[in-house]
Amino acid sequence: MARPLETIIELQDALERLHAAERQLEGIPDWMRELHAEYRERKGEIEALEQQAEEAAAERRTAEVEISDTQEKLKRYQRQINEVSTQREYGALLQEIDTAKSRIAELEEQAYACMERIDRANSSLEEQRGAFRELDERHQAELAKWEEEKPGIAEEAEKLRGRVDVLREHLPRPQLAYFERIFERTGGEALAPIRKIERSRGATMWHCGACNYNVRPQVVVDVQDRGALLQCDSCKRILYVETESAEETSDEPAAATGA
Ligand SMILES: [Zn+2]
Repeated sequence: MARPLETIIELQDALERLHAAERQLEGIPDWMRELHAEYRERKGEIEALEQQAEEAAAERRTAEVEISDTQEKLKRYQRQINEVSTQREYGALLQEIDTAKSRIAELEEQAYACMERIDRANSSLEEQRGAFRELDERHQAELAKWEEEKPGIAEEAEKLRGRVDVLREHLPRPQLAYFERIFERTGGEALAPIRKIERSRGATMWHCGACNYNVRPQVVVDVQDRGALLQCDSCKRILYVETESAEETSDEPAAATGA
């Protein structure tokens, strides 16, 4: 039967892979993150241009309603001009007519400026939509590919969930509670490998692979020989000794930086 430490190492690994799979299923996979960000940005730009065009169109409509109202008023004043009897009334009416005419000219200028804005937005839109089409197609294709991949990942997650349950059952209750407490506190990284540092005088020292704090030689012996559940004095993670293959790749740089 496996030692609790060995089961804990396997459990940590299964939980990490399970969380990675669940994170993927909830969001966008890493391999399409870049394209997705670009897609969102371009789409946002297009939406902003559409909004600019809409706002300009609404402004233009408002100006045109006021133009036709003012034109009606102007016609009324011009009819009244034949009916006035005093010089003062005549002068006042001419003043009104002038005001209405300059208001109309002002509004026409506004409406024209709006049309220019609409044209500018529309030609940018045409350009951007053309460029977006290709991006959109690639995005759709990647989304479809992601949809195809999802069931496999979901299945993998399901298997890992089963594995996690089995491993939990294998562990004696106190050791399981101990592991889970540390797993919770460390945000899902309950384990730390013991790393060896060769000193120049030939002395060997060990340190925690998570926080670099020294690990006492007796602790190394207890973990390695008895599979003792011991924590790093500093970060309180459970210490373990990496297997041969893992040690080969990680030992060299650790020795280089530690010496
Ligand atoms: Zn540590």
